[in-house]
Amino acid sequence: MSATNSPGVVYLVGAGPGDPGLITVRGRELLEKADAIVYDALANPLLLDRARTAGRAELIDAGKRGGSTESAKQDDINAVLISLARAGKQVVRLKGGDPFVFGRGSEEAQALHAAGIPFEIVPGVTAGIAAPAYAGIPVTHRGVATSVTFVTGHEDPSKPTTTVDWNALAKCASTGTVVLYMGVKTLPSIARALVDGGLSPTTPAAAVQWGTHSRQRTVVATIQSLAGRAAEEGITAPVITIIGESVNLRHEIAWFESRPLFGRRIVVTRATAVGGGLAEQLRALGADVLDAPATTIQPLDRAATDEAIANLADYQWLVLTSPTGVRFFFDALDRAGLDSRALANLEIAVIGPATAAALEARGLKADVIPPKFVAESLLETLAGLEVAGTRVLYATADDARDVLAAGLKKAGALVDVVAMYRSVPLLDDARVDEIRGAVAEQHIDLVCVTSASGVSGFVAQVGAERARGVRCASIGPVTSDAARAVGMEVVAEPAQASISDLVRAVIAWAQQSQVRA
Ligand code: SAH
Repeated sequence: MSATNSPGVVYLVGAGPGDPGLITVRGRELLEKADAIVYDALANPLLLDRARTAGRAELIDAGKRGGSTESAKQDDINAVLISLARAGKQVVRLKGGDPFVFGRGSEEAQALHAAGIPFEIVPGVTAGIAAPAYAGIPVTHRGVATSVTFVTGHEDPSKPTTTVDWNALAKCASTGTVVLYMGVKTLPSIARALVDGGLSPTTPAAAVQWGTHSRQRTVVATIQSLAGRAAEEGITAPVITIIGESVNLRHEIAWFESRPLFGRRIVVTRATAVGGGLAEQLRALGADVLDAPATTIQPLDRAATDEAIANLADYQWLVLTSPTGVRFFFDALDRAGLDSRALANLEIAVIGPATAAALEARGLKADVIPPKFVAESLLETLAGLEVAGTRVLYATADDARDVLAAGLKKAGALVDVVAMYRSVPLLDDARVDEIRGAVAEQHIDLVCVTSASGVSGFVAQVGAERARGVRCASIGPVTSDAARAVGMEVVAEPAQASISDLVRAVIAWAQQSQVRA
């Protein structure tokens, strides 16, 4: 997108309230194409992760710029936007929620206008709508709340400088909903001003902290008692406060905080290219997931695979053990100018349903899927099929355990093991620091491990000492053994080694264990 002599543009984009799914389609498109992204503290880091992975946009933390006063900071941000645009860049100014709702986006637009820089506004889902929605509080409801008023709590009503009409606001809260931004510290005097203005002290009120994030917390009380209750619960910014009868509907409508894994902090270790969406599934069930891509896939020398493919006609069996393996094998076929028809005379065995599905995607059905999705089970199944004297091409990872190869040889098969790829630890320092810190402070409820290499990757990241005693959910018996060997406590293990069974086992564990205090 960047060309030095094309004019730069600044896009003032609403990031939404926190849940990365709540950015608009337009906003996401612009993030993907931007040359530079200037972001705020409230923009979810997960949104920036994508841009970081794409690796092309310059990322600038606006929170860390500028002088000590708010206006010096704002002037400095304006100057950065203008200079990036003058350099011909496509600039995304990413702001929490909606850029024009208590976000100073309009001041940035004014500065851009004055500098003659073209700009666009991309609205966002504002926290004042989203936090109530995720707390199960409708801001309007037929017969209960016929209006909604957004107000800043930045101004202390006890100060003479206040420009908010607190008496008028008390009326708004009597017949409708008042949504307060930035008002945690000023809440006691705001509550007093509203009651003094005629609002019933028993009017229901709620404070929603970190709305739409997996760490969302909601405190419900009355306008009179909310400030005290929120302080007791240690509720600090960012908070949206909702005042009005519609707060009572939360009894029926709260959904986000009642999902089965809500409030659980779970580390997911896995190779980046596999995993069947484990992190996504756990997030959808409400867990706060720390993604620890313990390993990444590194291709190995192709010569051995290419040679095996040149001699495919010599084999009766092909064994594949992961979706990644399927991908590497088909890449090799492709290099040889072949396609799936080259496998027509082979029996194909896979280790489990994910590998079978990867094959199906290539138009092939696996001939053998063992009842348990581990090497031992596959071996047992194959041994029962009279493999003696047959030639087996076992195309796999170089860190695969040799149970299968050794067992097949013992059963009389001629086995060629071809290592196509290797899982290597993926170093992402910031992520590793975050996980190490969380484990050290016991802020982790569970670690999910889906392979022995996932266990060793986790230990490599947090250290052997910290890994000891950590609770884990393991995909199957072999992984569990690896976890126990490093002193982890296996609290969940599904009967079938698949991602969806692992997820069910985690839910079952959550149901019978207490939420971390
Ligand atoms: N432009 C933003 C608001 C910026 S003002 C928007 O449209 O949402 C910052 C205030 O917004 C915070 O002090 C807090 O009151 C509120 N806020 C922003 N994100 C929030 C969240 N996820 N949960 C609760 N409050 C939030």
